[in-house]
Amino acid sequence: MDFDMLGLAPRLIAELKSQGIIDPTPIQAQAIPHAMNGRDVMGLAQTGSGKTAAFGLPMIDMLLKEQGKPEGKTARALILAPTRELAKQIQENLAAYTQGTHLKTMLVVGGAGITGQIRKLERGVDLLVATPGRLIDLLERRAVRLGDTKFLVLDEADQMLDMGFIHALRQIAPLLAPERQTMLFSATMPRLMAELASAFLKNPMRVQVDAPGKPVERIEQSVHFVAKAAKTDLLLELIDKHRDERAIVFGRTKHGSEKLHKLLTSKGFSSASIHGNKSQGQRDRAITDFKAGKVTILVATDVAARGLDIPEVKHVYNYDLPNVAENYVHRIGRTARAGADGMAIAFCAPDEMGELRDIQKAMKAEIPVAGGRPWEKSEEEAKPKRGGGGGGGGRRFNGGGGGRPGSGGGRPAGGGRPVGGGNRRRKPSSASA
Ligand code: AMP
Repeated sequence: MDFDMLGLAPRLIAELKSQGIIDPTPIQAQAIPHAMNGRDVMGLAQTGSGKTAAFGLPMIDMLLKEQGKPEGKTARALILAPTRELAKQIQENLAAYTQGTHLKTMLVVGGAGITGQIRKLERGVDLLVATPGRLIDLLERRAVRLGDTKFLVLDEADQMLDMGFIHALRQIAPLLAPERQTMLFSATMPRLMAELASAFLKNPMRVQVDAPGKPVERIEQSVHFVAKAAKTDLLLELIDKHRDERAIVFGRTKHGSEKLHKLLTSKGFSSASIHGNKSQGQRDRAITDFKAGKVTILVATDVAARGLDIPEVKHVYNYDLPNVAENYVHRIGRTARAGADGMAIAFCAPDEMGELRDIQKAMKAEIPVAGGRPWEKSEEEAKPKRGGGGGGGGRRFNGGGGGRPGSGGGRPAGGGRPVGGGNRRRKPSSASA
């Protein structure tokens, strides 16, 4: 199967070839023919699967065939993504795929000045990539109208739901041309997605691929049972062993992640952080520096980090366990990309046993124990309520586990079987990230 067989225009195929994009990935091979036939598409695929081209190429092809130009303050196609970083990545990819054509792409995200965006929109744009909040802002200012928009993509739709964008999506979708074509891509299909899909898609074709190379199987996973107050020391000890290798450290909160980043820096590690409290410039710089290898450690919250295509991350530390089990899979998917092997190391404090159980249930596997032993029920319950998380270990754990060595590696795992049963706790996931 090659791109010619998918019916794409020869000039587009030639451009792709010059960029080393020669054979379609599985999601592209599945989605592009349906999209080219004008069908709505619902795709289950992760970043790294080539899904940007899966929705981008048929749209570009159709826009080229239609030949028209956008009127002022309109967009011919709209791509919505949950985070600024992902939106930027999509726009950069689309700009590459449209090279040598007259099609214009544009990015509108929060954190960047709105005046410049309003001015640029005056000329109209072919492919508009946006985060929902900023788009609504621009719609309210009448800087753009969507009545001519015939293509809509909802990318990382599950994360948009997690981030509470459902209201924004409900506001935006009816503004588009009624005869539009819609494509929805998501890494997971939670129940609410069916509702979203039936609201926005008409008789969609479903396409699905496994994560490329099933990375989870190539990732060496481990968990350390460690008291909250001992997490920082354990992290320092572990990353010190791999000083030159790129690592991502996931924290739960903006505040905790920032504190951790500062601590790492103060201990001589080259670290950067991305989370919701950082300005767009700071977030872009952190990613660029991390990609370029200028900093080796990226401390991130889920919201800021998901969907980013960052190569060659050797180690992913789950400093705090995610409160939504699927996010564990996304986090560890940051390593072992493009055929590389990777390590995913989780820290589990007494009050995170519920999260660990949820993760193991979702993965249908137990994570091997690298340090400490699973906390007993009594230790879980004798815990303070979770608060800020992360940081310099200033928060004291004053429950039953205080006197026990949290971890430190190498200590034989006592049994290995997590205690207790289900306990599906699902806290609001990303409000503070
Ligand atoms: P995505 O999943 O859309 O973020 O794509 C991941 C990476 O794969 C991007 O850097 C793309 O440029 C690249 N890519 C997409 N499609 C192909 C393809 N058919 N062959 C080679 N690389 C591709």
